[in-house]
Amino acid sequence: MTIVRSEIFKRFPEILFGMSTNSGGVSSGTLGLNLSFHVNDNPDDVKENRKRFFAQLGISEDHVAFTRQQHTVNIVTVNQSGINENCDALITGKRNIFLSISVADCTPVMLYDPRENIIAGIHAGWRGTAGRITEKTVLQLKNDYNCDPAEIVAFIGPSAGKCCYEVGEEVASQFPERCSSVLPNGKYLLDVKLANAIQLLECGVRNSNIEVHKECTIENGLYHSHRRDGKGSGRMLAIIGMTK
Ligand SMILES: [Zn+2]
Repeated sequence: MTIVRSEIFKRFPEILFGMSTNSGGVSSGTLGLNLSFHVNDNPDDVKENRKRFFAQLGISEDHVAFTRQQHTVNIVTVNQSGINENCDALITGKRNIFLSISVADCTPVMLYDPRENIIAGIHAGWRGTAGRITEKTVLQLKNDYNCDPAEIVAFIGPSAGKCCYEVGEEVASQFPERCSSVLPNGKYLLDVKLANAIQLLECGVRNSNIEVHKECTIENGLYHSHRRDGKGSGRMLAIIGMTK
């Protein structure tokens, strides 16, 4: 099983971070290591996939907080594991609560403030990113938890890259100009990772505290991709938690 790790979170031994890929699973066809019960996969296979993934991370699913993501900008603070309805970002200050964000091309953004001991996980697809969900999450950390953005460490995960992520003008126009480039066919290539990095920088997060993972989920078959495999594509989970 291949698990994506973060270089920047390795500086903090108290942080557990891992993101699944499409390797090491039991589901049929391209579903492989699908971790979602909502994509027409066999539930027993998904259960087994989740069991393997969480075992590989060394955590129990009983300690994981999940989201029912709706491409909103709703942010929920959690103090326990389990499912959170209608939200796309989670915050916790509790140890041993592992925040999970489900993705297949959408950008996972994970935050840690080592001074205030707060973490956040954000599902930043193009809609959430256009709605500035990453900025909103940092502002909530600042206002509600006294976080200094200059202390926040951020990981922007594998997701649709500018190399492949073609969108229409109506989508591209919702982002800063430098996040897209126009194609001869009138469509645009959009850089959602950069759009999220810009939001972090504008909030005061230091450039040296931001890691942007280079890989593109559309072109790299290691990952599930909604754009490549269609609506029923498998989903991956990005997980962050404080263990001490
Ligand atoms: Zn690509």
